Amino acid sequence: DSVFNHVVRAPEDPILGVTVAYNKDPSPVKLNLGVGAYRTEEGKPLVLNVVKKAEQQLVNDRSRVKEYLPIVGLAEFNKLSAKLIFGADSPAVLENRVATVQCLSGTGSLRIGAEFLARHYHQKVIYIPQPTWGNHPKVFSLSGLSVKTYRYYDPATRGLDFRGLLEDLGSAPSGAIVLLHACAHNPTGVDPSLQQWEQIRKLMRSKRLMPFFDSAYQGFASGSLDEDAQSVRLFVADGSECVVAQSYAKNMGLYGERVGALSIVCKSADIASRVESQLKIVIRPMYSNPPIHGASIVACILRDRQLYHEWTVELKAMADRIIRMRHQLYSALQERGTPGDWSHIIKQIGMFTFTGLNSKQVALMTAEFHIYMTSDGRISMAGLSSATVPHLADAMHAAIT
Ligand code: PLP
Repeated sequence: DSVFNHVVRAPEDPILGVTVAYNKDPSPVKLNLGVGAYRTEEGKPLVLNVVKKAEQQLVNDRSRVKEYLPIVGLAEFNKLSAKLIFGADSPAVLENRVATVQCLSGTGSLRIGAEFLARHYHQKVIYIPQPTWGNHPKVFSLSGLSVKTYRYYDPATRGLDFRGLLEDLGSAPSGAIVLLHACAHNPTGVDPSLQQWEQIRKLMRSKRLMPFFDSAYQGFASGSLDEDAQSVRLFVADGSECVVAQSYAKNMGLYGERVGALSIVCKSADIASRVESQLKIVIRPMYSNPPIHGASIVACILRDRQLYHEWTVELKAMADRIIRMRHQLYSALQERGTPGDWSHIIKQIGMFTFTGLNSKQVALMTAEFHIYMTSDGRISMAGLSSATVPHLADAMHAAIT
């Protein structure tokens, strides 16, 4: 008789569970549009050329050892990551007002940031957009924050519910933390315009709301690293505090290397250094210190002009391919005369399209067409190719009509 007999089976993760179901399907035409990972036109995972070059450099460097990194990770990686998101000429970076620590990709950065805020920030409530990435509520509540939502998406327009957003943030308690997707909102693909970001900033600063940016797709939305960082830079430019979680999973294709960074922008170098000392207290009992390989790859690329340039070219190619898939899917639905307005497919940005398909329609597409996606109708455009667009369009047409 086992002492674990009472343990009941937990449900699959709603996003990762899609891949589990996909893997079990023997159909040759099956298509996985669930997971947020880039695929080539051939449907294959992609290791960036520039990543291979950096790894070659690391292998050739005989002086490299496998010693522990410090608790905060690789110092050069941290500095370069801050410059990447805030801009090389950012006063906050130049004045050493940013505490940056290397974390386990985007998720780990969010978790460390949330744990720090739960211990050291006076307001314990965090507002997250409705809807948002499914892991957000769990990360924040397990960190000790209380999670509330603000209106974000309007199903009627398949666009931003800007008025709802302003109303909900406007009635949030003073000092509340607000989770913002820096760009390419997941799952909706709907972002505020720059003018709307400025209005959000003004409202948030007037109410002393604390911005907590999740930047999982820098460069993936527009193809430009600077353009996709504009929302964050707008907030940092006014001199007040903010928190930013960065991931290199998508934009460098380093998914399984788990490389990311948490930055806390402070008002002085002295405060930043005290904040960093407390981040170390959070990190040490969780995993002691982060892994060395992924951060070394990133540092290699960010420090070298030529490699950095090559990265921007490869990144733009990924972003452009995703945009092409949007246009191809839109045209394919037009050709089939699928009822409804599908222009949101080309208006939404980033890795995902929030199709507007309901869970019943999704179930039909899975059962009859072997197409896998989350039940909220979110499809990963990065998992599509010119070869598979017609199959998806057929399935969507069948599900609608
Ligand atoms: N935040 C958002 C909005 C995401 O979509 C993802 C990944 O899908 C993450 C964070 C975290 O990704 P990772 O932990 O792999 O960097």
